[in-house]
Amino acid sequence: MYRAPVKDIAFTLKHVAGLKPALDAGIFGDLGEDLVDAILAEAGRFASEEVALLYKIGDEQGAVLKDAAVTMPPGWKALYRRWIDGGWNALSAPEEFGGQGLPTMLGVAALEMWNSAAMAFGIGPTLTMGAVEALDKHASQALKAKYLEKLVSGEWMGTMNLTESQAGSDLNALRARAEPAGDGIYRIFGQKIFITYGEHDLTDNIVHLVLARLPDAPAGTRGISLFLVPKFLVGDDGALGARNDVFCSGLEHKLGIHASPTCTMIYGDGFEGASPGAIGWLVGEENRGLACMFTMMNNARLAIGMQGVAIAEMATQKAIAYANERRQGKAASYEGPGMTPIVHHPDVQRNLLTMKALTQIARAISYSCAHAIDRARVSDGDAAHWRDRANLLTPLAKAFSTDVGVEVASLGLQVHGGMGFIEETGAAALYRDARIAPIYEGTNGIQAIDLVARKLPLGGGEHVHGYIVELAAMANSVRTSNLRGFGRTADSLDRALDDLTEATRFLQKLLADGRSDEALAGATPYLRLFSLAAGGAYLARGALADQSRVPLCRFFAENLLGEVRALKERVIGGAESLADAGKALISA
Ligand SMILES: Cc1cc2nc3c(=O)[nH]c(=O)nc-3n(C[C@H](O)[C@H](O)[C@H](O)COP(=O)(O)OP(=O)(O)OC[C@H]3O[C@@H](n4cnc5c(N)ncnc54)[C@H](O)[C@@H]3O)c2cc1C
Repeated sequence: MYRAPVKDIAFTLKHVAGLKPALDAGIFGDLGEDLVDAILAEAGRFASEEVALLYKIGDEQGAVLKDAAVTMPPGWKALYRRWIDGGWNALSAPEEFGGQGLPTMLGVAALEMWNSAAMAFGIGPTLTMGAVEALDKHASQALKAKYLEKLVSGEWMGTMNLTESQAGSDLNALRARAEPAGDGIYRIFGQKIFITYGEHDLTDNIVHLVLARLPDAPAGTRGISLFLVPKFLVGDDGALGARNDVFCSGLEHKLGIHASPTCTMIYGDGFEGASPGAIGWLVGEENRGLACMFTMMNNARLAIGMQGVAIAEMATQKAIAYANERRQGKAASYEGPGMTPIVHHPDVQRNLLTMKALTQIARAISYSCAHAIDRARVSDGDAAHWRDRANLLTPLAKAFSTDVGVEVASLGLQVHGGMGFIEETGAAALYRDARIAPIYEGTNGIQAIDLVARKLPLGGGEHVHGYIVELAAMANSVRTSNLRGFGRTADSLDRALDDLTEATRFLQKLLADGRSDEALAGATPYLRLFSLAAGGAYLARGALADQSRVPLCRFFAENLLGEVRALKERVIGGAESLADAGKALISA
């Protein structure tokens, strides 16, 4: 059973990702450590004692579709009600609409806990929060007045409708149509697939944010607009009115997150005799919908990164507990009676320590990304710097953390041996759930492309190097510290950060020379290289603040950080052979 690692989370927020110095400097007004600790403790209690209890029934029974209505698993509706009554949906939402206005850092820390307890539960509110942010930034006052308070409280939930069968990673191909119908109203037609929480019985209304094309819109992504389409129309007094012409025609059968309804949504097909065309309102400007949706997607990318951290944490907890119970063989170091608990075997220890280190790194990168988002929001003079930082770290937070989720869940399964493959232990379920996170919200391949093509050029190509200098300062603190037990950590970190610099300059040169295909061939290994090097520095920062963390930091530096050198060789020397061998894959 999940036990929220509240102390670890608080430590990483405060001493690794920058929350403590920000609180001390009064950057978040009168928010103090006491309140932060109290919120984290209560979120941890709710996640461990309430959400986690409903995980199994959610996985086993899933969401069910009948007559265009989706019923959530038993107990989930009441759980959601208790969750919103606790104010959790409103944690980081704008105060103007009833939110608590707390830092994103706290929001994502809580999100980690909901997702560790039940990822299929955590994903729903993630989309609502993204919708709140997109509407707050881009919607008209009238739309905000009508929808935001209920979305902030969680009384209604939000969805994100981009994907169509021919338009996944490539939204240029999007076909859903929007026709102006007078009075600022549009009628929406088309089919969206894979829409998370597109239909369910948790709330009375569902607010869909839908990408569609206006008549005569330019081709490609410059001709896409964003619309708000409620399941039930809403009167001026806020009361629910007629059913809109949008419905769920199918639910996907999935590898994991069974309780999260993944819906095919039909817009404008005359549902239950409605006059055809789902009624919607424009959000932001015509043909600028993708920019508005990106507000939502950036938020959601970090949130999906938290799913990776969350699964990795849960898998690690489970594996450590199992390794202390299960006995096999006789380890040389074990002097007790009978067979050895497998946790004594060095190979099992290596697996468990790898899991712990990767989880902590992914958490540190993701919380640092949240910190940058917060600083960009509250800063006076240096908002642009923090925006660049958030933009740089978002693909790392999304892609590295979700890869870690899968990797750690797989290692966790391995530690369980045959029992890991049997559903009973829950290790297999985590592995199944983890697998979607590298795919949705922009596949990890697309994240790597984003990192190389759009984030390395930030600040004229210098922002990334400023960040590496900060990481190098963390590494240097290890060399100059009096703390014992770091072994060869400082040397390993220096080498990794040198490799990161070299790979970065290499890719920037390729981009400057217009050789983007070659640069993108190395994008995925580069993203991992970057994350491991940054993660090593964050582990060192944590170890310098708390000596009990030194051994894991050293283990990572001396056992895992060496991968960076091999990744650099792939980035620098891999493109030509990849292009050459790749030709053989293409059918004529
Ligand atoms: C459970 C689930 C929930 C989802 N929830 C939502 C939701 O709520 N709302 C929503 O709108 N969508 C949702 N999606 C859709 C999801 O975001 C897409 O599946 C995802 O973006 C990938 O698109 P695709 O499936 O069409 O894959 P494709 O775009 O066909 O990609 C296939 C492969 O090709 C690679 N690829 C594609 N283009 C390129 C390129 N230019 N360069 C290099 N590699 C490339 C990809 O990385 C991938 O490995 C969900 C999907 C699932 C499975």
